[in-house]
Amino acid sequence: MPDILEKVASITDRLNNKLIWKFARARRPIATDRPIVTFTFDDVPDTAWTHGAAILEKYDARGTFYIAGGLEGRVEPDRSLISADGCRDLFLRGHEIGCHTFSHRKVGSLSNRAFAGDLDRNGAFLMDAGISRRPTNFAFPYNAASPRIRQVLRQRYATCRAGGEAINRDAVDPWMLKAVEIRQPEDHALGLTRWIDDVATNPGWLIFFTHDITAAPTPYGCQPETLERLVSHAIDRRCEILPVCEALNRFGWKEARS
Ligand SMILES: [Zn+2]
Repeated sequence: MPDILEKVASITDRLNNKLIWKFARARRPIATDRPIVTFTFDDVPDTAWTHGAAILEKYDARGTFYIAGGLEGRVEPDRSLISADGCRDLFLRGHEIGCHTFSHRKVGSLSNRAFAGDLDRNGAFLMDAGISRRPTNFAFPYNAASPRIRQVLRQRYATCRAGGEAINRDAVDPWMLKAVEIRQPEDHALGLTRWIDDVATNPGWLIFFTHDITAAPTPYGCQPETLERLVSHAIDRRCEILPVCEALNRFGWKEARS
């Protein structure tokens, strides 16, 4: 795509992503006296599995990995994507496997029917991979939500995670959870400890999202030392680190899919 078109597309995306919060209408309380921090990984690059999961486990914590089956084993110039075996390994080690669509297309680009088919396909992929628990939480590819497909998502998932760069506090829309991105440059990623300080001072639910965890990350990931710094800072500040599914239990959201 020519540069100028890419710029226009990126501005449109950003506008859409801003406007989309106006559709966040459902409300569930974040009832917690303790600060909760969740680390999530999208797509998922294999380094999030090999490095990211191990860092969480070192602190006896687990994360949520949003898998898009269509990316399985793909080798890109700057990253490789997780295999089906890798997904099963994460699951067996106690991490949560969430859904990130199969095709990794923007959800608004698909008809409701095509979207439902895509979700079924990802569910079948995960089942074939040996993940015996059906995914109950979803993350939007590119954080691009769409009000049109909201009903499809509500019927299938307890939550949907977008971006939004904010802490979930007070009452939130479970199908429009906000999250803070761990991305480059590394200084920026290291500075995200301020979000942990914020949630530690005024308890709520801070969700981070990122991609690859490696010495030379893409713009959308970070180095292992940086992830570890964030995890250990959360522990130091007495945050509880939980995958999405366990945070929901903590808030008593069992009925969130009603
Ligand atoms: Zn993605």
